[in-house]
Amino acid sequence: MSNNALQFQEYEYAMPQPNAERIRQSIVYKLIFILGIDPKDATPENWLNAAMFAARDLMTESFLHTRRAHESQRKRMVYYLSMEFLMGRAFTNALINQNLYEPFAQAFKELGLDLGEISEHEADPGLGNGGLGRLAACFLDSLATLRIPAMGYGIRYQYGMFKQEIVDGQQVEKPDLWLDNDMAWQFSRPNKRFLVHFGGHCVHFDGKVTWQPAEQISAIAYDEIVPGFGAQVANPLRLWTAHTGDLFDLSKFNRGDYFAAMEQQQKNENIANVLYPNDDTNEGKVLRLKQEYFLVSASVQDIIDRHLCRFPNIKTLADEVAIHLNDTHPVLAIPELMRVLMDEHHLPFDEAWAMCQKIFSYTNHTLMSEALEKWSVNLMLNLLPRHLDIIYKINSVFLEQVKASGYDDDFVRRVSIIVDEHDGQQVRMAWLAVIASHKINGVAKLHSDLMVSSLFADFAKLFPERFTNVTNGVTPRRWIAVANPPLAALLDKYLETSDWRIHLDKLVKLNEFSGSLQVQQEFADVKRAAKVRLADYVERELGIKISPDALFDVQIKRIHAYKRQSMNILHIVHRYFQILDNPNADWQARVFILAGKAASAYHEAKHTIRLINDVAKVINNDSRVRDLIKVVFIPNYSVSLAQLIIPAADLSEQISLAGKEASGTSNMKFALNGALTIGTLDGANVEIHERVGDEHSFIFGNTVEQVEALYARGYNPYEFVDNDPDLRRVFHAIANGHFSPEETSRYSALMHNGDHFQRYADFRAYVDTQLKVDAHYRDQAAWRKSAIINIANMGYFSSDRSIEDYCRDIWYIKPLTEQELPNNGRG
Ligand SMILES: *Cc1c(COP(=O)(O)O)cnc(C)c1O
Repeated sequence: MSNNALQFQEYEYAMPQPNAERIRQSIVYKLIFILGIDPKDATPENWLNAAMFAARDLMTESFLHTRRAHESQRKRMVYYLSMEFLMGRAFTNALINQNLYEPFAQAFKELGLDLGEISEHEADPGLGNGGLGRLAACFLDSLATLRIPAMGYGIRYQYGMFKQEIVDGQQVEKPDLWLDNDMAWQFSRPNKRFLVHFGGHCVHFDGKVTWQPAEQISAIAYDEIVPGFGAQVANPLRLWTAHTGDLFDLSKFNRGDYFAAMEQQQKNENIANVLYPNDDTNEGKVLRLKQEYFLVSASVQDIIDRHLCRFPNIKTLADEVAIHLNDTHPVLAIPELMRVLMDEHHLPFDEAWAMCQKIFSYTNHTLMSEALEKWSVNLMLNLLPRHLDIIYKINSVFLEQVKASGYDDDFVRRVSIIVDEHDGQQVRMAWLAVIASHKINGVAKLHSDLMVSSLFADFAKLFPERFTNVTNGVTPRRWIAVANPPLAALLDKYLETSDWRIHLDKLVKLNEFSGSLQVQQEFADVKRAAKVRLADYVERELGIKISPDALFDVQIKRIHAYKRQSMNILHIVHRYFQILDNPNADWQARVFILAGKAASAYHEAKHTIRLINDVAKVINNDSRVRDLIKVVFIPNYSVSLAQLIIPAADLSEQISLAGKEASGTSNMKFALNGALTIGTLDGANVEIHERVGDEHSFIFGNTVEQVEALYARGYNPYEFVDNDPDLRRVFHAIANGHFSPEETSRYSALMHNGDHFQRYADFRAYVDTQLKVDAHYRDQAAWRKSAIINIANMGYFSSDRSIEDYCRDIWYIKPLTEQELPNNGRG
């Protein structure tokens, strides 16, 4: 009998069944026999771990069925390569996606425990910086839910994003050892092991090139299970760890230099040690390049192995496989695949290149020059000589074609992958991505248009058909069902279906109820409960009392000059002064909530955090403002904090300088949870505003065209400061130490920094628009109606829609049908 005939059902006696009693038994069994802990001694973490093992058993069935379907159906597959996956906590999400939340809650109740409380003990793995990594996580959720044959590839950093503490108002970074807590969720795959090489030189012999590397290291896989909603499909997220094992620096070992070889081993194991904590900047560090190559080399080898298991011939690879590059970080996959096809499978350059151009697609995430990856030719020559060779060849073939099409020398120079800079020749990774990919997409309509008209304008002339848009989305499973169960219940009731979780367009029916006082009241109750929950957290963690009756005004995201948290502060300080001037006016009480991490070497961003905390200290302790303003900086922003904060927000601050935020996704999460947006015409704000309408959102500030015109005529910040007495007052107060009396020059540089992101130009429009927000909020019925209309019109911003766009327009991938999967749905 072939193993294939084995049915999982035969093992049913050993499987926990999805009823509370069997789940309770399973949890206790795991606690005792997997973790070796006596129930009388078990801590909440122990119970959580035991429950995660029990839940994993149930998911594993979908996981293995999905694998069988991938093998037997042989459908074209997409591989999503990303240096970051910001998954958030897995447990509650898995229970909800597998329709197991209720029986687990019941099982815990019978054990005298509370599931909600226990799940708060899960570590939140921060394997990403911000939006880009969270997008990858939302996409994995949608890929599994939509039954797309797909797999994610990333790095299993031992230390993810640092833990942020605030000490004396300043950010302090602490290592985040997330692996200590989380073993249940990942299957280790010691037999999925690939060698990754570095350094050495190329040998040319008999018309063939071979790479003789100097170092090698193993990549070993861990598979995290990504359960789709409805319990039919669970896809793997394959994360690589670095391991030298019995392999050492070859040259040193051969020279008999045992100790140096061991030292090198230590260094190599550093490869997967730590996530680079940079968002929208590029550092150009050797270890980062090694990490990038480590990811793509292991993944490309695995992809080819998997192909050759399903199909007899490497030549059909491009028919069966799509590889997606999340930003330029995994772009080395292009020369790596070329190298494997040419050097190991002996395909000629032209054939390998044609295959690559069918296989790869690339998402651009930023137009800002400081974020565009360039690697020095010298560094590449040392670390990846064969890949540099291949990049040169790709470039020369490409440039010959460009010349042959009649373009002038200047144009040819501009589109060259290799560029001369003051510090030597550089490889432009975005150029390589564009030249090798059949599709290149931006992440919101505005961003995709700007991408074609600015950064890639030359390439858009050469390959207009390659450029497209896929507006980002977020998963309603995590961002409503997991983060905001009371809102989910309200939607179930008024939409009369639970289907909105997978057909978010169904929210549109809520428009019919926006005027209903009954629905408005129920929405207000849901919002208030979330505000109370957040207020409790803030009091418990920070000792600050905030009133849930105040308007919660929230800006949570990475701290970055272009996102303009400091413009938010300008408004807060302005409002503070106005209240002191007119204490008896009819002020709307507000709580300003900010959170976000600053890259550890980004001094301006760190100063901004300090300014927020200094301003908070002065205002929160000034009895004259009573409770009209509170300012709260919540430390250690993460996915789990976002899930706590976003449901509680009344107002969503999306105030980046127009043209700088590629899409934004927190703007979508907020609107989906019934917050109104105050924002610029930037990124996806434009499309949110289009759908929600002018009456129900607050758009202000210069447009991209106006911003460009200001830059073009020579932007002078003092022109705006000098001409607006309110701004002048706020500006001088901060710059001269009103909020930092112990060090009056502390914020002088932050205020006098040339204002590259035009805070002062948008100040007046911003503060005027904030008055409109107050007026709207004063009419509670009108505000609640607007909030409901926001939710109703967010259907488009489901990551399911984004993934459908990718499948149709970029990857040419079809989902598994229900018939192609063994029927094990618990949905
Ligand atoms: C959604 C999300 C982001 C992205 O926020 P933006 O405001 O779009 O930049 C960043 N970090 C976390 C934890 C998120 O959940």
